[in-house]
Amino acid sequence: MTTTTDLVSYEDALASYDPVMGLEVHVELGTKTKMFCGCSTELGAEPNSQTCPTCLGLPGSLPVVNATGVESAVRIGLALNCEIAEWCRFARKNYFYPDMPKNFQTSQYDEPIAFNGYLDVQLEDGETFRVEIERAHMEEDTGKSTHIGGATGRIHGAQHSLLDYNRAGIPLIEIVTKPIVGAGERAPEVAKAYVRELRELIKALGVSEARMEMGQMRCDVNLSLMPKGGDRFGTRSETKNVNSLRSVERAARFEIQRHAAVLGSGGTIVQETRHFHEDTGSTTSGRVKEEAEDYRYFPEPDLVPVAPSREWVEELRARLPELPLVRRTRLLEEWGISTTDMQAILNAGALDPIVTTIEAGADAASARKWWMGELARSANESGKALDELAITPEQVARVTELVSSGDLNDKLARQVIEGVLAGEGTPDEVVDKRGLKVVSDEGALTAAVDEAIAGNPGIADKIRGGKVAAAGALVGAVMKATRGQADAARVKELILEKLGVSEG
Ligand code: ADP
Ligand code: MG
Ligand code: ZN
Repeated sequence: MTTTTDLVSYEDALASYDPVMGLEVHVELGTKTKMFCGCSTELGAEPNSQTCPTCLGLPGSLPVVNATGVESAVRIGLALNCEIAEWCRFARKNYFYPDMPKNFQTSQYDEPIAFNGYLDVQLEDGETFRVEIERAHMEEDTGKSTHIGGATGRIHGAQHSLLDYNRAGIPLIEIVTKPIVGAGERAPEVAKAYVRELRELIKALGVSEARMEMGQMRCDVNLSLMPKGGDRFGTRSETKNVNSLRSVERAARFEIQRHAAVLGSGGTIVQETRHFHEDTGSTTSGRVKEEAEDYRYFPEPDLVPVAPSREWVEELRARLPELPLVRRTRLLEEWGISTTDMQAILNAGALDPIVTTIEAGADAASARKWWMGELARSANESGKALDELAITPEQVARVTELVSSGDLNDKLARQVIEGVLAGEGTPDEVVDKRGLKVVSDEGALTAAVDEAIAGNPGIADKIRGGKVAAAGALVGAVMKATRGQADAARVKELILEKLGVSEG
């Protein structure tokens, strides 16, 4: 199916319209058991091996609320500066779909556990944008369907479908923003920055690993346009299940261009869900959106209301960890780096590795240098994330220690890191096996320097005649003779000394 969608250029769209955005993010909590039963949430098990009468919706089964799930929800709410409900209930959201055996999803409707908050997010240039949070509520995930026999993996054209209910009932927190207005041309960037900040926050709270590529965090992007300077929102489209930060940004951008084309040619936007396509960066029509009344929401009669005591909420508030934006600001000051540097560190996923390396004893500048240099390059080449490299922050710290003690120079340190990454062992083992040590023995160095001078009389003469820059060639010769294991600065000193010239 190829349908081309009319688009106007991004600049033209923004010249005529103001975008309004709403982001709904689902986070799968990392609890050991499901939200309303004791089934395991462990990934990778045999299909349908982690189910019970409750999460299969069998008659007579009764749900029980997972206390850790509620605690995680409250902590997320507090970290998002929300008010926490004194009393709230679950609700049944009724609809039929094969991946949902109960025929309703246990969710929250008009009584969310957390509401009315905000999250400050940082844009590429360091500027802060406040995204207001409407609510964060608890619900459960659905099962997973796999459609077999079609070309696209979608249900259309499939011969049969397989269902795995292991995921049915895993706790989800849905976090919904208020309409985001005033971001203008930066709306797609705000969307991306928001999802990134939220992901960092969730990870800092330790309530989920929030790996988007594994579906632990998914974002729906609602978007509409209003004529520039207007104040009445247009009709929105809702692009579902966008699964990476980059895709969130692209989906928002694409929808701005598409809406502008439809509106600009006198058409109307239909309120519908849309699918995002990674390969083309485009969206296509999904289904026409149900209205809330179609779901026949009603309070869940089988679960007791959730009434978090104020003491408990305050206790949880007091135990919140340092939040990511606060932490980044603190580190930026401590390290004396610019917002651009910090942004680069974040983009590389290097912040946690650097911090852990410093905690393991490295100085901040060296830790940054190795993670953002050698290791980032290596990760890039192998298409891995920094935390997937076969070297630990502790090992990087050990390498920096060997450099500062003078046992290694940078060049040798690079070889050590290369060896660790190649699986040759710990830094000390690689040093031993490869025989890497700075030659600090002055006798050996002096001999190598004498040899280099004797072997290059022409160059030596030039240096004697005052051309100090020519010393580089002799340093090179010594480094070669010592297999890179000499301290280059010391070698240069020795050469100049021998030839009776002083630098500068
Ligand atoms: P639904 O369940 O129908 O998706 P929600 O209220 O859960 O509705 O989420 C709608 C999201 O879209 C919210 O983030 C909301 O702020 C946002 N939103 C609502 N109206 C508009 C609009 N006209 N344009 C853009 N975003 C909107
Ligand atoms: Mg929605
Ligand atoms: Zn179960």
